[in-house]
Amino acid sequence: MKKITVIGAGLVGSLLSIYLSRRGYKVTVFERRPDMRKNLISAGKSINLALSDRGWKGLEGVGIAGEIRKIAIPMKGRMIHNLSGSITFQPYGKESQAIYSVSRGGLNCRLMDLAEQNGAEILFDERCSRIDMQSATAYFENTVTKKEIAFPGSRIFGADGAFSAARLQMQLSTDRFSYSQSYLEHGYKELSIPPVNGKFAMEEHALHIWPRGHFMLIALPNLDKSFTCTLFFPFEGAKSFATLDTPGKMLEFFRATFPDAVPLMPTLEQDYFRNPASSLVTVKCFPWTYGEKMALIGDAAHAIVPFFGQGMNCGFEDCVVLDSLMDEHGEDWNRVFRDYENLRKPDGDAIAELAVGNFTEMRDKVADPFFLLRKKIEARFSEKHPGKWIPLYTMVTYSPDIRYSVALKEGQRQDAVMHRIMAMPGIEKRWDSEEVEKVMLGMLG
Ligand SMILES: Cc1cc2nc3c(=O)[nH]c(=O)nc-3n(C[C@H](O)[C@H](O)[C@H](O)COP(=O)(O)OP(=O)(O)OC[C@H]3O[C@@H](n4cnc5c(N)ncnc54)[C@H](O)[C@@H]3O)c2cc1C
Repeated sequence: MKKITVIGAGLVGSLLSIYLSRRGYKVTVFERRPDMRKNLISAGKSINLALSDRGWKGLEGVGIAGEIRKIAIPMKGRMIHNLSGSITFQPYGKESQAIYSVSRGGLNCRLMDLAEQNGAEILFDERCSRIDMQSATAYFENTVTKKEIAFPGSRIFGADGAFSAARLQMQLSTDRFSYSQSYLEHGYKELSIPPVNGKFAMEEHALHIWPRGHFMLIALPNLDKSFTCTLFFPFEGAKSFATLDTPGKMLEFFRATFPDAVPLMPTLEQDYFRNPASSLVTVKCFPWTYGEKMALIGDAAHAIVPFFGQGMNCGFEDCVVLDSLMDEHGEDWNRVFRDYENLRKPDGDAIAELAVGNFTEMRDKVADPFFLLRKKIEARFSEKHPGKWIPLYTMVTYSPDIRYSVALKEGQRQDAVMHRIMAMPGIEKRWDSEEVEKVMLGMLG
């Protein structure tokens, strides 16, 4: 039986292992951390994630979407919390459309269980230290015993996340390996809203946002009826993690800025000072493969900032694309890998760009009446002319058959149209007129 080595039993490595095991490969996964199923530990990243249609398609491809739906909470739109304390609901799409809040740990544990049930072996506390790519031999140091082993295989997948050791090996051993990483000036910190009398403290079927211009707080529901909140905030500057450095300053700021959230956060002070402020990175690289011996997948190939909720979804889509290429090219791994990186690189770059752009939308524009008017015009036009206009959010989130790179280009074209429409005098009054519709149709050709 042909052996495949997967480095990293995170979300993408675990799903990939299911895909490969089902094809009859003998898959061995090496994970640096201890087995989180024995002692549920946070991955040091967000506690819950938004799963959307591209992710669901990845799960459906190996018949496990039903299992995961049991641990997912639908969020049908954004609940905007204004400074005045008022709230407004903005649906994410049509009534039947939703994104789903899932626990990162819960999902990862389930995927590892399913990977093992499908025949993959997962070894824990094994940190990849180096790789001989020619012979597809990976070396691992046991983080407990410090013993190093060499593990020869026929092929290696690096699914070891944004700070991938596998990618570093490719960088060190490949001529002309392009690599870039860029950090946002904002970081994130996780806070919590517990249940009140055994119930959700706010509407459960929504992603809550407190947009505040240059920064924002968001909250996603958990199965235990709590919410995990994430504060996206500058590291430095007048209002920043650096300046909110005492309980007094922090509480004063929170009370003035998130007045309706503070009473729901009894552990705010402990959460704020105990939880780290983590950084937000975009990583791009190329190539993603080495001959027929090795490939990068998930965040190891394309780490993006979380503002479109697509990092994991994109990684799951990598698995779908790889799987279809295995259908097409069989055991011709040279072709599988070449087509995989050529198809996926433009899409990885596109969602990276869209994700950075969506930060401004979430933290600022969702509270701007002019922006909301634009969305209303788009929604109306799209309903009347579905073949001519699919809103960008719908293309990215609910349209797994539209490539991210196509969504990006189409979104730019829509921006140009809407720029002109929003500049029409009196647009507030005639936004639903035939005249506006005609101009849009004319521009779209
Ligand atoms: C704040 C935040 C919010 C997010 N929200 C969303 C969201 O709502 N929706 C969404 O789709 N995405 C979201 N993401 C992105 C998502 O978390 C990632 O895209 C996803 O985790 C990528 O999965 P992965 O398996 O590629 O990497 P990871 O999940 O990072 O897994 C990599 C695994 O490799 C292991 N590993 C690392 N180095 C080694 C080594 N040397 N040897 C062996 N093992 C190793 C790690 O321990 C880990 O288990 C968010 C990210 C952040 C930071």
